[in-house]
Amino acid sequence: MAIASKKYFLKNINNILNFVLTNQFSDFYRKKYKDQNFKINSYENFQEIPFLEKKEIMKTALSKFTFVHQKKITRYMFSSGTTGKPLITAHDAPSPIIPGRVELFEKIGLKKALFLFPINIQNDRIPALTPQVLGISGDIYNLPLMSHLTKEGSINGISSTPTILEFFIKELGKISNFDFKQIKWVELAGEFCTKQRTEYFKEVFPSAYFDHIWGATETGGHKGYRCKHLYNETANIFHTFNNYHFLEILGEEEGEIVHTDLYPKATTLIRYKTGDMGEIKKIDCACGNNYVIELLGRANYDRLKIQGVILQTEAIENSLDKIREYFKQGFKMHVYESKEERRIMPKLKLQLILNNKNKLNEPYFKEKITKKISENLYLSPQSTLENLVRKNIFLPLEIEFIDEWPREIKKKNIISHLNLKSIKDIPSK
Ligand SMILES: [Zn+2]
Repeated sequence: MAIASKKYFLKNINNILNFVLTNQFSDFYRKKYKDQNFKINSYENFQEIPFLEKKEIMKTALSKFTFVHQKKITRYMFSSGTTGKPLITAHDAPSPIIPGRVELFEKIGLKKALFLFPINIQNDRIPALTPQVLGISGDIYNLPLMSHLTKEGSINGISSTPTILEFFIKELGKISNFDFKQIKWVELAGEFCTKQRTEYFKEVFPSAYFDHIWGATETGGHKGYRCKHLYNETANIFHTFNNYHFLEILGEEEGEIVHTDLYPKATTLIRYKTGDMGEIKKIDCACGNNYVIELLGRANYDRLKIQGVILQTEAIENSLDKIREYFKQGFKMHVYESKEERRIMPKLKLQLILNNKNKLNEPYFKEKITKKISENLYLSPQSTLENLVRKNIFLPLEIEFIDEWPREIKKKNIISHLNLKSIKDIPSK
């Protein structure tokens, strides 16, 4: 169990518990805690409070998980989530201000920012913007219109996911005389963005300041930010808001992140299991905030640590991006260990379903695909699978085209077979 700063935690936690346990709008926590009262005087006794799971909120009507008067609600946020059913939460209090943002936006002259996310923000202001900037909730299903709006409306900032931004760049390219230098600010969130991809975006938008943000709809927006000193760090490192949120990590060093709000709000979360994996680190940052969190993907199913590197669903998806058109949605990545002479080496086998089987008649099709994926599959911010194969740390990638996903592993993207001893044991079907 690791935690970020305890300073504001001890000062505020009893107020928050009091706020939810005597709440006149929702009895959610009274019921959940079975009317037990908690008086917290140390982190140790805070740990007696049960965790809150996403499924508990999903099972509760929205109004029963809203801790302020309905009149105070200023926005709703939805997450599509991995389950397919959206989680809707209500928000009132503005999200914490990101230190240095007013100065940054003034310096780069940010006036209007377009937000393109599969997650929607309805009503009122978009969190994490300063009052001087107009935030526009864009429509990802109509990117041609959004690109016209960007030009005609002189929008000079974009906040999006790396995947949506790539599609949007194509649309912007179709607008005659669109000057990519018009964009002064690009903020990326929502998925792992490799160093290579960030570099590509920087080339497309040469005048833009690049920000990365960590957030979630149920927390009302952002919960991690980057000061200017973190500018060149990899995209998964964020400062935490130590006076607004209290973060715990389930595990010795890295593990699932548990979130607690330290200020009363419409959706107040106490010991909420976020499903995000991470590690809290204490650093010496010139901005004065000495805590950062390193994000390591989603819990349980789409991340595997092997040979000191991390295999993540998002990174595999990114590596398939440029060749997506050849394949049906989805993939299965099998991870093996095989004994090579005197060493045990990891080996990856990727299963894909072809859209058009005739592709197999194309000379070197499989070889080309294998090369493309190996070159673009990042296992650490600096190393691709190809780099690791060349350094003799990984065996070369194997690709298998299959007709349908094996039923027993339908929900998993990454399948570990790490107890196998010999390469002969790797099943070919
Ligand atoms: Zn800093």
